[in-house]
Amino acid sequence: MKEFTCVSCPMGCKLNAFEEESGYKITGYSCKRGLQYGLQEMEDPRRNISSTVRIQNGFLSMLPVKTSAPIPKDRIFSVMEIINNQKIEAPVSVGDVIIPNILETGVDIIATRNMACS
Ligand code: SF4
Repeated sequence: MKEFTCVSCPMGCKLNAFEEESGYKITGYSCKRGLQYGLQEMEDPRRNISSTVRIQNGFLSMLPVKTSAPIPKDRIFSVMEIINNQKIEAPVSVGDVIIPNILETGVDIIATRNMACS
């Protein structure tokens, strides 16, 4: 049995997952979103990442970025390595794709603020 918290809304229901022959059984949820979250967390856990990349010729030296969608949890370290080694040039607009389809996950790394040239 695994215990974890549903993060789909601020209620934070405590979920329990039991492995059965037919798949995972989830208990403790108060709505369908909690059941979906529990199954996803057991079968294919994913996380969003927020980070920064180095930017040249910008009025700041680091640009905040995030994933366009959650990525598989077991790819986080590899994704962070790529983000940490990335260097880009200003100007950048919020929503610009900084790294497309990172590690062929179908998820982009996108800018979360504008960065004009210095
Ligand atoms: S189970 Fe439903 S009510 Fe409970 S935290 Fe998850 S989304 Fe919110």
